Amino acid sequence: MKFKTSRSIAGIKPYEAGKPLTELFREYNIHSTVKLASNENPLGFSTTVHAAVLKSLSGMNRYPEPAAHDLCCALAQKYRVEPENIVLGNGSDDLIALLAHAFLDPGDEALMPLPSFLMYEISVKTAKGVPVMVPLDGFDTNLCAIAQNISPHTRMVFVTNPFNPTGSIISRDAFQEFAAKIPSDVLIVVDEAYMEFVRNPDVFNSLEKPLQDPRIVTLRTFSKAYGLAGFRIGYGIMDKEAARILNRIRQPFNVNGLAQTAAKAALADQVFLEHSIDVIHQGVDFLTAELSAMGLKPLPTQANFLMVDVKTDATEIFHKLLGQGVIVRSMKSYGFDSFLRVNAGIFSENQAFITALKNVLKSDA
Ligand SMILES: *Cc1c(COP(=O)(O)O)cnc(C)c1O
Repeated sequence: MKFKTSRSIAGIKPYEAGKPLTELFREYNIHSTVKLASNENPLGFSTTVHAAVLKSLSGMNRYPEPAAHDLCCALAQKYRVEPENIVLGNGSDDLIALLAHAFLDPGDEALMPLPSFLMYEISVKTAKGVPVMVPLDGFDTNLCAIAQNISPHTRMVFVTNPFNPTGSIISRDAFQEFAAKIPSDVLIVVDEAYMEFVRNPDVFNSLEKPLQDPRIVTLRTFSKAYGLAGFRIGYGIMDKEAARILNRIRQPFNVNGLAQTAAKAALADQVFLEHSIDVIHQGVDFLTAELSAMGLKPLPTQANFLMVDVKTDATEIFHKLLGQGVIVRSMKSYGFDSFLRVNAGIFSENQAFITALKNVLKSDA
């Protein structure tokens, strides 16, 4: 190539999205499929979202509101913060990138678990920072080891709670102990993409008492429990000074008009949200019971997905499941060679996955 790629960017591995259905239809020539690979809401989204979005379509010749005033006010009210504490993003992916660009100079370090959500590493490298990856302790975030890896160059720490892909959580006590070891000028980014699904009351939920610690940046998303993944909208809640900086550098129209409308309507429909969470919990419990009955050991989870050890090459099983029209994730590229990650779907989808997995493992034996 004629152009020299930035050195920090040349080494970035591409993000692997869950296989879209259209791709599967093309490659396998099948049409009835179950996608349990990207932790999406299997019920779709609220009917009030549908109506609001259709209604706002005709205004799409106009630019969206750059500050999304109503939505920020609604979020501020929900969490008892001020609109000035909120930054909206084109998905929380956007906020991760904004944080890295706002707070890292070349060579500055950002700590994160290994493995973790790939966007942390990609964004830090894109911002010319240095990701410092701290291996898990079994299936849990190794908070002690993260704290031990703090150096004079550390500017931010990413933690994910509940953790993707294992589904484990950080408790209130564990977080407080961890936070006490982090210097006052290091941001603690807490990615709570799956917080809505947590049933364990001991979880550290940074929005229970928001803004108590100016170092904490909370990331939340409409992509999972609210079912708006395709609209692309997430939000960060943080100290006003940090929010002001992110709002200054973000694209003025980073959240499109349909996404703003959808999010406002989704926030207002608590009934749909609660129903979705219920269905997911039933799904997680069903999958856990069925997998256990097969003699496998699904990991305990507080999220809408779980990992399970299939005791053989997970990528092979992933491909065989694809052949049966079921899309899940192989965790091989995350270093869990024999684990699949599957999210809870509706009952028929969960059943289809279990049936397909039984077929595949039987033919494998
Ligand atoms: C799905 C997910 C997100 C959400 O990403 P969006 O860009 O908001 O769709 C963020 N963090 C983690 C760990 C996730 O798994």
